[in-house]
Amino acid sequence: MKDILALFQLARREKKLLILSFICSAFVAFFTYAFVNLVQPIMDKLFQLSPGQAGPQKARFLDSVFRALSINETHLVRLLPLLVLVVIFGKGLFTFLSSYFMKGVGHRVVKRLRDDLFTHLVYQSNSFFDRMPTGDLMARLTNDVDKIHQAISGSMADFIEELFILFALLVGVFVIDVRLAVVSFVITPLAVIPLALFSRQLKKRSLVGQRKMSEIYGLLHEAITGSMIIKAFTSEEFEIKKFLRATASYFRTNMKLAWIGSLSSPFMEFIGGVVGAFILYVGTRRITQGAISPGDFGAFVMALFMMYTPINRLNRANNVIQQAVACHHRVQEVLTSAPQIQDAPAAYPLPSIQGRVTFDRVSFCYNESRPTIVDISFEVGRNETAAFVGLSGAGKTTIINLISRFYEPTSGTIMIDGIDVREVTLGSLRSQLGLVTQETILFNDTVRNNVAYGLGDVPFERIVKAAQAAQAQEFISALPQGYDTPIGERGGLLSSGQRQRLAIARALLKNPPILILDEATSALDTESERLIQIALANVMKGRTTLVIAHRISTIRNADRIFVVDCGRIAESGTHEELYGLNGIYRKLYDLQFPEGEEAIP
Ligand code: ATP
Repeated sequence: MKDILALFQLARREKKLLILSFICSAFVAFFTYAFVNLVQPIMDKLFQLSPGQAGPQKARFLDSVFRALSINETHLVRLLPLLVLVVIFGKGLFTFLSSYFMKGVGHRVVKRLRDDLFTHLVYQSNSFFDRMPTGDLMARLTNDVDKIHQAISGSMADFIEELFILFALLVGVFVIDVRLAVVSFVITPLAVIPLALFSRQLKKRSLVGQRKMSEIYGLLHEAITGSMIIKAFTSEEFEIKKFLRATASYFRTNMKLAWIGSLSSPFMEFIGGVVGAFILYVGTRRITQGAISPGDFGAFVMALFMMYTPINRLNRANNVIQQAVACHHRVQEVLTSAPQIQDAPAAYPLPSIQGRVTFDRVSFCYNESRPTIVDISFEVGRNETAAFVGLSGAGKTTIINLISRFYEPTSGTIMIDGIDVREVTLGSLRSQLGLVTQETILFNDTVRNNVAYGLGDVPFERIVKAAQAAQAQEFISALPQGYDTPIGERGGLLSSGQRQRLAIARALLKNPPILILDEATSALDTESERLIQIALANVMKGRTTLVIAHRISTIRNADRIFVVDCGRIAESGTHEELYGLNGIYRKLYDLQFPEGEEAIP
């Protein structure tokens, strides 16, 4: 019951529809009750061998209705078929309405849940995505939400309606004969114990099933996004084996679920049969004792048989609801994990900045076992270009990610124009920073919308100007629909050099006072490389730029170069100064230009 209440909590904002659906369910139960009551006069009329033979004197619901409507016995016989029709029609109508309203509740709840989940994800910090595999998140947003939908739209409606019907039928049997009803229900608790056991097992197994499904989604996601690498390393067999292992494990869990799920119905049915046989025995004795008429017993048995459907459907609905509750827990896990990095309570908008960036004794670690950045201090003045070089994994990307507050330093302070970045709102900070990442991130949209991403309505001329400065105009004009050409998922329809130039155009259009540039590592042909160098020179002009350079040629003219080594700044200075130091920078330089292609000026 607690589980169903949890689902009701989800639906509480749809109070009106829920109440309407409940009212309709109550009408369905009423018509079911009326139907059972019609059985008695029909059967007694059929089995009344000698006319006028009196049955047991009982106060019956329909008798009072007929009396009120002045319907006598003769009329009644003619009216009975019509009454049966009216009752069946009424039941059908309200079943339709209650189901329709409840489906409406389900769709609304699920839409809101999806929207909440997405909104929550968009605001999540990077560390959340580091620890949550994409496939797992996708499973929670699709598979789990679907299961909740099934439960609310279908099973919850069934659950309520069948509970009402069961209640009406129970009232019916008690009205017919209390003693027979009591005897019948003394043995019914037998049915409740296995139902509880089945539920517990189902819930446990379906949680395991959901987890395994997430793993499958994860593998799928990796196989799709990494298809090129899989081919390049001819690791298809390895990936397939991994996938087969995951599906086999999911299959085993599903078979256990199927075993429990399939057993529960016939088992419950068998228990129903035992109860039925016992009642038949007691009922026939009650007729011979003259306590009830054959029509009463017929109606009693009919009501009992009719209870089978609600009990069975309650059981089935319960199975779906148990699975949905497990899914609800997983969805809640996402919804309740607050973004690690949020605006401070007293955060204020960062005023228009000049572009001075200061790191004061900043340290950071992704996990406690190993520090990534250790005690870094430096300052980059307004309109200066600072470059970070170092071996792969030294911590360059981590340093620049701290400026945008993608991660929070474990100690020390980062300031812009002397203002601690933790004191200002995230939105105002990030809106003044431009970011060109190592891996170009584009969306499945047109060229125009990708360049103007996040900037709202931008005049077309400005987009073209930015594209021109980013050396992208030529290839965009050659596209089939120019600026309106869709570029595919992650810009897959463009070359990597073209994607980079689009990303640079985007940064140019945003025109931020501070630009953060993580130079792409992928090797490009000489022409692309030349175009990108021109584009970068354009985008760096007139603003503070922090650039991670993988090619030293890019940053020869930087105002200051920081050499990052094992999370620390090992050397800093201009190109000439560092070259003269004969330290790490010199080694890096010599590695890139072993034959001295780049003559020192
Ligand atoms: P590259 O030049 O290859 O891009 P980098 O100097 O930019 O390297 P970082 O990406 O800053 O290096 O990584 C520094 C260290 O932090 C590496 O050892 C890396 O394994 C680790 N690291 C990076 N990102 C994460 C993360 N999200 N979670 C845990 N560890 C991380």
